[in-house]
Order: sequence, then C-alpha cells, then structure tokens
Amino acid sequence: MYDRFNRKINYLRISVTDRCNLRCIYCMPEEGIRLLPHDEILSFEEIFRVAETAVAMGVDKIRITGGEPLVRKNITDLVSMLAGLPGVNDLSMTTNGIYLEQYAEALAAAGLYRVNISLDSMDPERYRLITRTGDIHDVLKGIDAALHAGLTPVKINCVIKKSPLEKDARDVAAFCLEKGLEIRYIMEMNLKTGSFSKVIGGEGGDCAFCNRLRLTANGKVKPCLFSDLEYDVRTMGIREALTAALENKPKHGSANKTNAFCNIGG
Ligand code: SF4
Repeated sequence: MYDRFNRKINYLRISVTDRCNLRCIYCMPEEGIRLLPHDEILSFEEIFRVAETAVAMGVDKIRITGGEPLVRKNITDLVSMLAGLPGVNDLSMTTNGIYLEQYAEALAAAGLYRVNISLDSMDPERYRLITRTGDIHDVLKGIDAALHAGLTPVKINCVIKKSPLEKDARDVAAFCLEKGLEIRYIMEMNLKTGSFSKVIGGEGGDCAFCNRLRLTANGKVKPCLFSDLEYDVRTMGIREALTAALENKPKHGSANKTNAFCNIGG
C-alpha cells in the first residue's frame, strides 16, 4: 500500500504493552506512568486480527515492541500467531534484553526472525544509572542467548545525546564489533517538542522514506510517531482505522503530545 506521498507502507510496529521492567531516564519518569487498565490492552486475538488485515493491505514486515514486550505474559504465543501469518516475511522484536536469556530459544521456536536490543553503555554503573534499575550482565547474557538461538542479525539500539563519538557509544560500538553485532545510534528524542532525527545505521526518522504505521497497546493505529493523529480499531473497526491512518499519514513528523515512548514503542 502507498500513502498520498507515494511512500510504500509495508511495516507495522506493534506495541503489546506499556509496562516495562526498566525506567530508562530518556523514556520514562522515575515514578513511572499511569498504566493502561488491562481491559484497554488489546488481546492477542485482537492484535492478530489487526496484523492479518494490515498484511492483506500490504504490510509484510512486523516488529513487536512495548514498553518491554517480554513482560507481556505468554508473548511467545503471539509470536507464533504472527509468524504463521502468510505474507509476513520479517518478524522482529525490540527488547531491553533483561529477560532475553530466558526467552530466546522459545521466541526462535515460535518463529521470531531477529531482535534489536537496547544497550547504551558498557559500564555497569552507567547502565544502572541510565536504566535506573537494570543489571547489564542480564543484557549481555540475553545477547549471547539470542545469538545462540539464531535470532540474527542481532542489532543493538544505542541511544546517544549528540554523537556516536560519545564515550558510551564508542564502547558499545567496540563491543558490537567484537561480537559481530550491528549497531544503530538513536539520538535522544522528545515527543512533546517534536525533536527527532534519523536513526544512524537504521531507517527510522527518515520521513521522506517512512514506511511504517504503529499500533499502540490500547488499539490506536498511529500514522506517525511525531503526530497526535490516532485511529481506534475497537471503535472504528480494524480496516477503517488502518485505512484512515494510511490516508492521513503526515508528510513528516511534527510533535506528539498524546503518547509517551513507553506506550508507543518508539
Ligand atoms: S516522524 Fe513520522 S513520518 Fe517521520 S519517520 Fe517518524 S513516523 Fe515516519
């Protein structure tokens, strides 16, 4: 499917929860956020029906995000449902890696293709400071488990302030080189002010070639991360919400005063 700017839209990012086991300083306030009531969160069946309709409309690439997707109970069930969808030729997940050692084999067996893992520093103290609670050793074990399970290529999402030359980013890059991992540098963004930039080494943030729609955990189809536009699959109907998002997809991002990164999955 194509939007009115003749961009091919073939990528759906699905946020399966607004919950997370970390409190990264650039994503979530220390006190956390008001979590969505459980009955507002889409069931796996509802998510599957949205994905099925999106694939019928032209989507062939799906990414599972959060919050942290691995905190959603029975997440491997959803992975196998989506992996079984004819027409999906890329099914990936973005995770903070904390629970990945536990889930990697089951995710691969369920049909997940590959993972992106967040890692912003190699220094255990800095990592704990940035995530407010995380233990870097869990992530490192998760990376090894993902490699062992064949969830490859394993890509590392490294959040930077201004430049890949920052010490933390250089350390992560050296680690990726040593382990044969691909690195993406994501400049800190601000939804409210609309400050964002292209992902270095990736596709995100390049509005002229944007290929994606997003589904929030509570069933809103968002045509753009940096926009307040959203269409509710429960009230409008799935195909109607997807079509409205496609038809109203903005030429480029502006600002998003509605969501927080933790409930839209970046
Ligand atoms: S800001 Fe919006 S249009 Fe630009 S790349 Fe992101 S989602 Fe696409």
